[in-house]
This record gives sequence, C-alpha cells and structure tokens, in this order.
Amino acid sequence: MKLLCITTLLLVSQVTTQNTRYDGHEVLKIFPKTTNEASYVLDMVQKYGLDVWHVHHNDSSLDVKIWPTISSTVKQDLTNTRIPFFTWIKDIQSLIDQQFAPITSHINKRATQQFMFTVYHSFAQIEAYVASLSQDTGTGPSGDSIYSSNAVIGYTEENRQIHLVKISKPSNQAKKAIFVDGGIHAREWISPAFVLYLIDQLKYNPDQLQSVEDLVDTYDWYIVPVLNPDGYSYSFASDRLWRKNRRTNSGSTCHGVDLNRNFGYQWNPAIGGSTSACSDVFSGVSAFSEAESKAIRDYFASASNVDFISYLTVHSYGQMWLYPWGYTSALPNDYVDLDAAGNTARVAIRNRFNTRYTVGSSTNVLYSAAGGSDDYAKGGAGIKYSYTLELRDTGRYGFVLPESSIIPTCQETMDGVIAFANDLKVLPQTKR
Ligand SMILES: [Zn+2]
Repeated sequence: MKLLCITTLLLVSQVTTQNTRYDGHEVLKIFPKTTNEASYVLDMVQKYGLDVWHVHHNDSSLDVKIWPTISSTVKQDLTNTRIPFFTWIKDIQSLIDQQFAPITSHINKRATQQFMFTVYHSFAQIEAYVASLSQDTGTGPSGDSIYSSNAVIGYTEENRQIHLVKISKPSNQAKKAIFVDGGIHAREWISPAFVLYLIDQLKYNPDQLQSVEDLVDTYDWYIVPVLNPDGYSYSFASDRLWRKNRRTNSGSTCHGVDLNRNFGYQWNPAIGGSTSACSDVFSGVSAFSEAESKAIRDYFASASNVDFISYLTVHSYGQMWLYPWGYTSALPNDYVDLDAAGNTARVAIRNRFNTRYTVGSSTNVLYSAAGGSDDYAKGGAGIKYSYTLELRDTGRYGFVLPESSIIPTCQETMDGVIAFANDLKVLPQTKR
C-alpha cells in the first residue's frame, strides 16, 4: 500500500453530470426451453435492439435489459409464446444511484487517505496512482526489492494514454511473463478495480505473503489497468452502462467500437459482432481499426524478447475462467492444458468464499464472438495460456456491482491467479 493524495475535483463534477439515465429500465432473466424459443428471443433482441447482458451456460437463460416504453410489449410477447421470464433487476437507475452515493461520500476521505482499493476510481485517479508507482520500490517478505516501471503503449481517439505497468524482481535467470489487461469494456468497473489490486499485491505485498512474492520470483508482470480509458471515463461522466470505446464512426451519429470484437485473429462481425455502428457489439470497420486493440497488437509485436506464457484479460460478469476459441466451437489443440490451469484457478476461487466459477472455452461456455483479445493473444501472438476472466457476479447487480463487493472479489480472484500461476510451472510450456 502507499500513500497518495488524489485530486477529487474531477470526480465531483463527474458524479453530478451523468446524463444518460436508466429510470425504470429492467433486466429480465429469460428462459428459452427449446432452440425455437431461443431463436425467438434472439429475434426479439434484434427487433427491439435489446442489450443482452449475459447468457447463462448452466440453464441457457439470458439477462436482457429492456426499457419502460417497450417493457409491456416484450413481456406480453414472452407471455404469449410461453417463454418463462422474471424481472431480475427492477430499476437499473436505482442501482446506479446507490453506486454513486458511496462514491460521493468517499470523496473527502480520498483526498487525505491511502489509495483505496475498496472503491471505484475515475481514470484520472487511476493515472495518478500509476504515476506514483514509479516513485518507489516494494518489498516482499524475503526483504528483496520489487520494482515497477511505466510505459505508454498507445493513445486513444480522445488522446488519453494507455498505460502499461511492468512489475518485476531482478534475477539472473530469464523469466516467463504474464500479461494482464483490464477495462476493455467500459462499464465493467470491477475489472480495473481488480487489476489495480493485483498491481498493489505484486509490488507492495501488503500482507507480506510468500505466495504473492512467489509470483514475482517466477514471472515478470505486464499490466494494463485500463485498456479503454475513453469508454471508462465516459461511463463515469455520462453513461454508466457504456461498453465500447468512443470512436467517432463516420456516417453515423453513434459512437464506439466494441474492442473485444476488433482484434485481428479470425475477425468476423458475423460471429457475435455487428457491422452496425450503433450496436453495442460493433466490430469496427476492419480488424485492428481501433487504437486500443492496435496498442496490444503492437506491444506484443515489439516485445518479441519477452517470453509471455499467459495472457489474462479481465471482464465482468458471469464468474467464468474462459479460454479460446471465441470464434468457433472447436477447441485449441492444447485445450487440455488450458482447461487444467483454469480449473486450478476455479478451485482456489471457490475455496475462499465458495464463489462458483465455470471453466471452458468461450464459445462453449458463453457464446461465440470473433475478434476477442484472448483469441488474438493465443492465435496471433502465440501466448499459450490465454484466458478471459469474467468476475462477479452472476447477475444480481450485473455490471453495477456495489463497492462492498470489490474487496471480496479481488481476494478470491487473487487466490485464483496465485493457484493458476503456480500450476503453470508444472503444466506443459509448449503448444501441442
Ligand atoms: Zn467484457
């Protein structure tokens, strides 16, 4: 942990200017029982332009956001076709209001206290924290120093910096490396919250745990706290449920590209993406059309001397530890290795608070979607142990996870990362 004074003026103005409201917006949990019913629901999603928040693997149910003017029509359609559903979140705005209330009350404390991992931070605050990292060293229980260095790997359309933090402990031996990114999707605030927690653990080891120091003894860590700073900032300032980046799309008044449909390995808008600029899953006009996805591609290309063994991209929600492929239901040749390491993480996560994760390939556990960063990391950059982590929860709060859940989520995910990283030491290192 470290002391850090943070300017809060920016946040004060952000809290009060959210202009996209979700009064009366609901999340329905819909249970299609047959493939016919499933396609009926998907047609309905298309027809009304509904936002599918999550697809549950265990019972094939869908969390779908609707709004007041179509609420009765959608519910009537479902009732007429006898597709069971219930209202999962009654009023999204009240959840958002609850979430911003503690943020406001924390403002004064934030100015004088340590960087708090118990709350969500604006991008400006995250940048201040990242800048402060380069000013000191951490120490593990062995007494050895742990170093970090910062780099900027890209600039967004709105000219924000994409920061990369490297955390390492000097060694005579070459180490393998693990890459972690957070905040590809703007509204998934728990993702940067965990990634910042991970940085703090690795560098400062606040509980002085040998298991945490082992992580820097064995690996070098390359961590991007917020890959989509424009979208993240917009989700603070204007629209809590914004997902994409803030790309100005030519010929459209709709902003944004879904960065997790824009990576250039088997890129294909027809598979879980969209060619419509107004869609929440707009794949972009071409693979790697976006500064943020390009930054990752170019970083991996430039870091050919770094031996990346794993790529972890952190999202929410659904409680899943997913491996490629997202573009096809076929499995990677070495999926047995990826499945084994994922299950090691799953067990460790469950051991902490009994939080249940699902492990499997993205297409088979979640849905098919081409252009994901994990597919690129494995298929394009050749990083064997490539995963998408979907953190808490399973839909009670969805993307609007309360701040009271941040620390438990971080603790259990950290347990998962420790167990996972240990397992990599004994699992096969080369692709099959
Ligand atoms: Zn996501």
